[in-house]
Amino acid sequence: MISISESKVKMEEAKKYIPGGVASSLRSSMKPVPLYVQDASGARVVDVNNNVYIDYLLAYGPLILGHAHPDLTRNIHEALLRGSTYGLQHDGEIRLAKRLTEILPCADQVAFSGSGTEAVMLALRLARAYTGKTKIVRFYGHYHGWSDSIFTSFPSPDFGSVQKDSLLSAAAPGTGGQSNGSLQELILLPWNDPDALEKALNEHSHDIAAVITEPVMCNSGCIAPKPGYMAFMREITSRMGIVLIWDEVITGFRFGLGGAHERFGIQPDLVTIGKAMAGGIPLSAVAGKKEILQLIEEGKVLHLGTLNGNSLSTAAGLTVIDTLSKDGSFAFSKLEAMAVMLAEGIRTLLKNKRISGVVNQLGPVFHVMFIDREEVSDFDTFNLRDTQAYTFFTEKLLEEGVLIRQTGLWYVSTAHGEAEVKETLQAIDRVLDKMKL
Ligand code: PMP
Repeated sequence: MISISESKVKMEEAKKYIPGGVASSLRSSMKPVPLYVQDASGARVVDVNNNVYIDYLLAYGPLILGHAHPDLTRNIHEALLRGSTYGLQHDGEIRLAKRLTEILPCADQVAFSGSGTEAVMLALRLARAYTGKTKIVRFYGHYHGWSDSIFTSFPSPDFGSVQKDSLLSAAAPGTGGQSNGSLQELILLPWNDPDALEKALNEHSHDIAAVITEPVMCNSGCIAPKPGYMAFMREITSRMGIVLIWDEVITGFRFGLGGAHERFGIQPDLVTIGKAMAGGIPLSAVAGKKEILQLIEEGKVLHLGTLNGNSLSTAAGLTVIDTLSKDGSFAFSKLEAMAVMLAEGIRTLLKNKRISGVVNQLGPVFHVMFIDREEVSDFDTFNLRDTQAYTFFTEKLLEEGVLIRQTGLWYVSTAHGEAEVKETLQAIDRVLDKMKL
């Protein structure tokens, strides 16, 4: 049994000065206590009790190169020596934006920001200004950041229990203090349901500025789009003059350099990217059609941010792209191969131990659910999974030196290898033996 006593002590101290002791509410869900880190390198983190963990949380996604990647560390350091941010222009912005337009099929231009939430805010603003319409279609189970205009009571079950009744009603505030006003512009639909989309768009297209979607329902069960669904969404939004926004904050730089839209061969009008884009340094962007992004140049849409495009983030973004593209698609094949090994290994263990569960894996990400179903392919079924069993699983895995999210995706990095995968599967083998399902 490992001791995490030092994290407990630090959390108590933190609570005196930081509400809830954590800097982002989601982190407080970690049981038995949010861990305090003293060091991290490659695929592993070390907590303040000197416990070492193989890391599949990876800071909720950004660490595609693992922790403290030498090139990333060096290039950020070199950039820092010339000043961290200027409030003026510099060459790094041009080089990164140009590179992004080369690798993202839908990108003519790029507007930088600091977080996924900000990128989504800008994308929605651009869509509204471009179309002169105000309503936004979004989907149950997807998450697009925590700004008042898009956050609802069921972005992700991480944020609280899902009210079954509310699935049928209009968007409800996801937090105290959120105004109802902007939510009135949201139309919430079930995802992967072309009929529901067609009906809503037929009825409201004159009011709808944008449809925003994750290309894969990464935030709820790692559910893939049904064959033809994303192509249908593209076709109907084009036909009705509605901006199609793909929120690639998770899938960007994970499903390949060109994200999910390259992989699926579909061109949204705008994409939002963040997380893995700068390997753990704050950076996000909206990329897409020039005729929409040009509204910024024309002064019709304001795009602001003191630290936007700072030289540390652009150095990080360029390093991530260079590192991932160095050996062609090798890095992405490796990430995917590890996800497949883990997902198949976990499926086999579940089957051999007669534990009901589903592992949804798509590309380099996957989600493990304890549930008495053959498959999880919609949000309602996803909500039937046994979250208590999963919490037990995460706690026991932590004791075995494997760090995963309390609920949600497993991420891998280029620093993970077969040794880590093998070690992890052995730990899971032992933990599943302790589970009484
Ligand atoms: N969009 C998606 C699809 C996300 O998963 C997230 C974060 N999990 C966001 C937007 C918000 O990004 P950030 O936390 O950087 O604001």
